[in-house]
Amino acid sequence: MKISRRMVIGGSAAAVAGLAVSKIVYSGCGASTWAAPSLKRAGAPTPVDAHFWQPLDGKKIKCVLCPRECSVADAERGFCGVRENNDGKYYTLVYGRPSAVNVDPIEKKPLFHYLPGTTAFSIGTAGCNFECKFCQNWNISQFRPEDVESFDLPPDKVVEAAQRTGCATVACTYNEPVIFYEYVLACATKGHEVGVPAVMISNGFIQKNPMVALANELGAIKIDLKSFSEKFYAETCRGKLQPVLDTLKTLKEQGIWFEIVVLLVTTLNDSPDEVKRLANWVATTLSPDVPLHFSRYFPFYKLQLPQTPVETMEKAYAAAKGEGCNFVYVGNIELPGRANTLCPGCGAVAIKRVGMMVVANDLKDGKCPKCGRSIPGVWKKEDAFKRGILA
Ligand code: SF4
Repeated sequence: MKISRRMVIGGSAAAVAGLAVSKIVYSGCGASTWAAPSLKRAGAPTPVDAHFWQPLDGKKIKCVLCPRECSVADAERGFCGVRENNDGKYYTLVYGRPSAVNVDPIEKKPLFHYLPGTTAFSIGTAGCNFECKFCQNWNISQFRPEDVESFDLPPDKVVEAAQRTGCATVACTYNEPVIFYEYVLACATKGHEVGVPAVMISNGFIQKNPMVALANELGAIKIDLKSFSEKFYAETCRGKLQPVLDTLKTLKEQGIWFEIVVLLVTTLNDSPDEVKRLANWVATTLSPDVPLHFSRYFPFYKLQLPQTPVETMEKAYAAAKGEGCNFVYVGNIELPGRANTLCPGCGAVAIKRVGMMVVANDLKDGKCPKCGRSIPGVWKKEDAFKRGILA
């Protein structure tokens, strides 16, 4: 029996009751250096007032948090499965209740030019506003909050736990943080007050006003640019490209530090032409200094294609460099030197990495150790909330 999204996120838990995964107990996303042994399990979801919605006739509401603009009837939920209309008012059901909690290197996000070599206290909840057929975290992103195990972790406790575990940042990650917006904003605001910046790992599918409000509080953002084609977004992610490009332009306007990741999916978005057009858009519309990471695809969830060939990864790297991108990286694969930060002026290695690990950081006050050229990024904690670094 195939599991459809309608059966899990849009339908009832009973729809999956006959399957082996009728109740998901989630114990973390990928490699981590810390688990959450002492965290209290959360009880039933408690509704907390949602932001960015408008009342409609007949107790309906329109959610204007993301470009999907769900129209939601009383006692129903939006597409993401975590925002519910109760008697004509809109609520989030995942505030303070993450389903994944880990300590990760910031390089895992990946953010390579933001406090390198530090760790991020990382949280994610149930739900998503996309349905990517290759989702690596589908076992939380494609489920409702009541169908995954969750922890009781309000924003002040998140920030406190980050401090206690020696993390430089709080990362809102794993599933799509846009759909747990209120929780992200509260963690970011609390973190801003005490000097622990929050970062968000997002698909960028969010409307402008909420993005601007959040960007004021966050330290940095990583955007997954899933492809450079509307067709791919529609068919593979149930999303749209243009709003994501608009978000990237908004981030540039706001001056917040951001990086872009493109997962190259075998045969679907990895053609030389598409990679070239994407890299050209990043270099010319945003900035040549926006770090552009190409990540290798492995079969997951509903998409069972062969992993991205090594040559494709190398060609994407070369194409992005050829289009003028100054900081290009290749991840999810060990290719010698392709995770290093190179000076665009003289080519010297400024930061040497092996996979997600920084093995040498030779930057001198944010400058190339050899020729002294400035390397854009947030290199010191004092600059964690600095704006306007990208030219
Ligand atoms: S955030 Fe959720 S409910 Fe709101 S428009 Fe997006 S998918 Fe719909």
